[in-house]
Amino acid sequence: MSSKDCIFCKIASGQIPAVKIYEDEVVVAFLDIGPVSDGHTLVMPCKHVEKVHNCPAELLEQVWSRLPKIAGAIISAVGADGYNVLCNNGRAAGQVVDHLHFHIIPRKAGDGVFTQWPSHKYGQGKAEAIAERIRSKL
Ligand code: 5GP
Ligand code: ZN
Repeated sequence: MSSKDCIFCKIASGQIPAVKIYEDEVVVAFLDIGPVSDGHTLVMPCKHVEKVHNCPAELLEQVWSRLPKIAGAIISAVGADGYNVLCNNGRAAGQVVDHLHFHIIPRKAGDGVFTQWPSHKYGQGKAEAIAERIRSKL
């Protein structure tokens, strides 16, 4: 998807409406249209970037530098017990809108959201082999 057709670029530029809670020259934070919980917010760079691994580090630093303030305001406003910060990258990971964004999802104790996190154990030697392959790409 090009930035021309990107719905989140249109939200950033004000071409289409969104319930914005914060914006400055670098980021826009707005309420998700389909919230998992009240206050579920998306924080994104105004500039069109698709995924974490193709976002310039400096831009990512600028976006993340806004999270403490935004997350703090959200949990205080909705009285959350905790929150998840999620970022889906690629269709396989559930990314639907190809404009990098971070979900801030307020949570209540015992709310039952994200109760299933499938985990498994590495077989003998596998963790080290995978780690070595990753290190070779750094
Ligand atoms: P993803 O799956 O790409 O990480 O998440 C996309 C999120 O954007 C979804 O949670 C969805 O509800 C939200 N979303 C999609 N379109 C719009 C929109 O036009 N306005 C707002 N506020 N949220 C949107
Ligand atoms: Zn975009």
